[in-house]
Order: sequence, then C-alpha cells, then structure tokens
Amino acid sequence: MKLPTGVQCICYADDTLVVCCAESIAEVKQKMDMALEALACWIESVELSLETTKTEAILFTTRRKLDPLTFNLRGVEVGLSRTLKYLGIWYDGKMSFREHMRKVAEKANCIVGRLSCLMRNVGGPREAKRRLLMSVPISVMMYGAPIWADSLKTAYRRAEVEKVQRRAALRCVSAYRTVSTDVACLLARSLPVELLAAERREVFDAMKTVKVKAAVLRVKRNARRSLLEKWKAKLAYSEKGEWTCVLIRDLEKWMNRSHGQLNFHLTQVMSGHGCFNRYLHKMGIKGSPVCSHCDQGQDDDPRHTLFECEAWRNERGELVGSLREIGEKEYNVESLVPMMLRTEEGWNLISGFTAMVTKKKMHAEWAAQA
Ligand SMILES: [Zn+2]
Repeated sequence: MKLPTGVQCICYADDTLVVCCAESIAEVKQKMDMALEALACWIESVELSLETTKTEAILFTTRRKLDPLTFNLRGVEVGLSRTLKYLGIWYDGKMSFREHMRKVAEKANCIVGRLSCLMRNVGGPREAKRRLLMSVPISVMMYGAPIWADSLKTAYRRAEVEKVQRRAALRCVSAYRTVSTDVACLLARSLPVELLAAERREVFDAMKTVKVKAAVLRVKRNARRSLLEKWKAKLAYSEKGEWTCVLIRDLEKWMNRSHGQLNFHLTQVMSGHGCFNRYLHKMGIKGSPVCSHCDQGQDDDPRHTLFECEAWRNERGELVGSLREIGEKEYNVESLVPMMLRTEEGWNLISGFTAMVTKKKMHAEWAAQA
C-alpha cells in the first residue's frame, strides 16, 4: 500500500490508525483523503470490510480557531471528534488527557465504592486482603501511565486521581475519613499516583535504549529509589501528618516490611484520628482536649495514650515487660515503629496494646455519651 509522505498506517488487531503530520490544514486534508482511499482499496483487495460509520478523526494542534474539517472515506464524510479513544486511552486535541483522567478516575472510584462495601472499618478482611483488592482501582488508573504522566503536573487533574487513591487507602488501613491523603497513602503503603506515573514514564523512556536484563533491573531499582526520595521530600513538605511522620522515620523499611497488619485500632494511634479527646475536640465532638482517663491535665493524643497516661500504666507495664523479653529495651516515640518493623512479635505486642487501650477508651466514651 503506497501512502503519501508523512502518513503512517498502524494496524493493531481490528483497529487501524492513520497518522498524518503536515504543516497546514489543507495539506492534512489532501494527504488524509489520499491515504484513506489507498487504505480502503487495500482493505477491499484482501477481502476485509471497512466500517465507515465507526471511523473517527482527531486533529492535534495548538491552534485555537479552526475551520470545519472533514475527510472523505469512500463517499462518507468523517468529521473531527473532540476526543478519541485508542487502545484504552482517551486523546484530546491538545493532548492534555483531561478526558482520560476524568474517565479513569470515575471508573476507579466506582470500583473503590463497590469494594468498600466488603470492607467495614471494624472487622472485615485483614490489611493484606484489603491492599490486594484496592490494587485493582489503582491499576485501572495507572493504565498507559508513561503516555499521560506529565498531565498530572496540573493540580486539578492530580486532585481527581488523588481523591480516588485516598478513598482506597483509607479503606485499606481502616482509617477515619478525616485522615489526610498523605497520611492515608503512607499508612497504606500506597505510592502516590503522580509519582508512580512519573516512575513508569522514566522506566519506559529508559527501556527504549536498555535491553540487557541486568541493566533493566538497575533502571527499575534507580527509578524506585528516586520515587521514594521524592515521596520523602513531599511528606517533609506536607503540613499534615506530622505525628505519623514522626513515627515512620524510615520510609524504605516501612514500605518493604514483610510482616505487620494495620487495623482500625493501630491506625487510630498512628494517624492521631480516633478516640482521642484532642481529635474529638478538634472535630467539635468534645468540649475539651484534656484526657478524661487520668488526672494529669494533659491533652489526650496518641503520644499521651501510648507513653504518658497513668490510666494505662498497668497495660503499658505489661507491654514493656514483654518487649524486654524479645530484646527490646527502649520504649519511646523514636523506637516504637522500628520495634514493630524489627520483628513480628514486636509488631503484634504493640498492636495488641493499642487495640486493648483504644477499645477501653471507646467503651468509656460510649458510656459517657449514654
Ligand atoms: Zn491520660
């Protein structure tokens, strides 16, 4: 099949794409009409049929004003579409991927909604199963990321996908709806979509020239390291989640841990959003942020509950004793998460303590409200 200069034909399964690059609209029209005629002749010569009514066209240009443009395909006029879907990606004339991001965010949000019905915050599947299920909407959003990664540099487009990711992350770790996106993603170990898309783009670009398996692995390793560095910087810059970042100091170890499940109780302690007077006061539920379980006159927050509150002295004493038995001598803010990450026993002991204390606090709260 002979096509005019500057025209390319790409066939994929039953999808045929004709791409034409030209200096002027008139040149596009002329070359496309010739190419479409040549293509139609070839399709007939191999005894295939051409679906003229399903044929669509789109023009990629920076021009704001355009005269009407149509192409001729066997007597059928093919006009320009505002968007065009090709191999699962929605393209628009400005290559902004605005329509694509809107549609995938909508689709992923529907999936999160359906999966959320299976995951109540209290009870329901464990974190590992939640993470597996919630990886589905993230995969839906990440499709074709190397192509549209740059479009997430625009704040409102990024906000659309972040909203979905936040909803999925909150469900993964059974967190309160007030937990910020940064903290929800950190607790759920869900890499921010914006950074993940940039990583996919980086690997995709590098793979064009790198073919050796060892070099490919190196490219992927470097891209992941760079992603984590960017995430660390993003978290350090974030005004939210200070307490969670104080607890989780080593992002790599937190991300790569092989044990430990978050649950409704542990997440409350690690996010600060839960049964703490300080949080309840901020939400307008309690009149005072001061702890109502002891007489120390301090604000009731995760730090006070875990390390200072006299009301939990016995439970804390038992925890510290059990931690000593597995070789953990320090029990403070700095050592808490490192102890959880070091051994599964450490994680389970601390998780058990937080569950016991938060349950008692919640029961006391319900009794006070009754
Ligand atoms: Zn107290």
